[in-house]
Amino acid sequence: MAGGTIELTGQADFTACACCGVPARRVWGNLMDADGTTAYVVQWAPGTTGTHAVAIGLVFGDWGEGSSRDDRSHVAVEVRHNRGLDNITIIDAARSPIDTTPLAARSLARAEVLNLPLHARVLNYVEQIRVQDTRVSRFTSA
Ligand SMILES: [Zn+2]
Repeated sequence: MAGGTIELTGQADFTACACCGVPARRVWGNLMDADGTTAYVVQWAPGTTGTHAVAIGLVFGDWGEGSSRDDRSHVAVEVRHNRGLDNITIIDAARSPIDTTPLAARSLARAEVLNLPLHARVLNYVEQIRVQDTRVSRFTSA
């Protein structure tokens, strides 16, 4: 699959992670390729490599003029860094610490994503974000 282009759109630091209260960082971007534009959010707790999962939210769908959140779906991914390996898991988007409600009307469950062609695209995009978005430090929670 051909690589896409990444556009960095914003970032913020939070004093307390929604799941556990430690300081957290969130960055936003867009990934553009032949299949369209996908917005993404990555959230992690700096300095917690191996203990705190990196949360990724991907919002798929139509971003064109006249589109709305009803045209878009949220897929949630969790990355855990363990002994130099990234364990990438698609989770139920409703359980994600990243709330994309304003952007996407549908939150896809893990089982739904695994049964869609979207599954391969999700894994491909996670890899592209890991390699191309230098802010996420390759998901090592740095
Ligand atoms: Zn947390």
